Amino acid sequence: MVPLPRPGGTGWLTRATFDGLATTSVYPCSVLEQMTTFDGRPGRLDSRGRALRDLRISVTDRCNFRCPYCMPGDVFGRDYQFLPRDEILSYEEIRRLAGVFVGLGVHKLRITGGEPTVRRGLPDLVAMLAELRLSDGEPVDLAMTTNGSALRHLARPLADAGLRRVTVSLDSLDDDVFRRMNGVDFPVTRVLDGIDAAVQAGLGPVKVNVVLKRGENDAGILPLARWARDAGHVLRFIEYMDVGTTNGWRLDEVVPAAEVIEVIGREWPLEAVDAGYRGEVAERWRYLDGQGELGVIASVTQPFCGDCTRARLSAEGKLYTCLFSAIGHDLRAPLRDGVSDAELSDRIGEIWTVRDDRYSERRAAATDRLPKIEMFALGG
Ligand code: SAM
Repeated sequence: MVPLPRPGGTGWLTRATFDGLATTSVYPCSVLEQMTTFDGRPGRLDSRGRALRDLRISVTDRCNFRCPYCMPGDVFGRDYQFLPRDEILSYEEIRRLAGVFVGLGVHKLRITGGEPTVRRGLPDLVAMLAELRLSDGEPVDLAMTTNGSALRHLARPLADAGLRRVTVSLDSLDDDVFRRMNGVDFPVTRVLDGIDAAVQAGLGPVKVNVVLKRGENDAGILPLARWARDAGHVLRFIEYMDVGTTNGWRLDEVVPAAEVIEVIGREWPLEAVDAGYRGEVAERWRYLDGQGELGVIASVTQPFCGDCTRARLSAEGKLYTCLFSAIGHDLRAPLRDGVSDAELSDRIGEIWTVRDDRYSERRAAATDRLPKIEMFALGG
């Protein structure tokens, strides 16, 4: 690793202003560390002034679905070599790293995968993470993203263990479309049952993520909106992204978020809602008739790197500072070599301090030939 100025030391770093203006100021590291972050909490800033607030933890690279836009079945077939058991972080190792991240200012932990529910004993991990406390003594905000296939029996144990919320990925209510899009002929009713179980277990309001692909499931926008309005779920439409290299992504398959808002707004008028917090990924809209709200994640048509406060930990313990990174920083080796929490914290802090990623904003500048990691390895 390139030697970096030590936190608290006398090195110099550049830092863009908080509002994302192109102007760049130069600050000594010691000053940078003391700066108040946009949310007023202490925390480490990257080279663009973005605090480390969110950690997405992938607990497995395996999934029981083969969605063609994420893990196409012809590439990830029977012979595909997923990570062997001993290369995946144990729950104790995840708990330890998560604690170090919380010490650096993370207050939101999201468990993801692959499909997190395919890993055995997941409630045990949830219970361990739920014990973590922020510097003010508050518990961490602990959520999970899942395809919902196992929620019918897992929602209650997960809630009992301390999970607070779930986001369920559901691309269509039409059984034929859903079966095709999950690549394994999985019936939509089982996911709907899982969502009901999550609500009953107190994990609501459930967020439902829909990835739209032109010509595949865009006819389902209104039925999904109607269903979510009636049931009180928060629907979020995600633009199909050029993550990884196996899905053959094409720009003309992206359904722009603005089009989704127009289609739904024609049926049920909408108004924009201010972001709940700085760095919120979804652009929020409220139904004028008072029947809840929905979100759109316009990562292709309106990139939002300027507010990105997320880090991602892969199942084998690599830290990625951008969803579109090809290179992860290995945390498993130092962890297994017996370094102290303080040393781990220094290492992670150094990585974050020099973070400069803004892939989505640079997408137009021929980034398509760069190597990229697959979405299932990072969990979205
Ligand atoms: N298996 C879990 C699930 O289904 O939510 C967690 C992992 S999955 C990779 C996380 C999210 O990424 C899902 O909502 C999925 O639809 C989304 N996703 C995967 N590939 C995508 C792509 N190319 N563009 C946009 N979203 C994608």
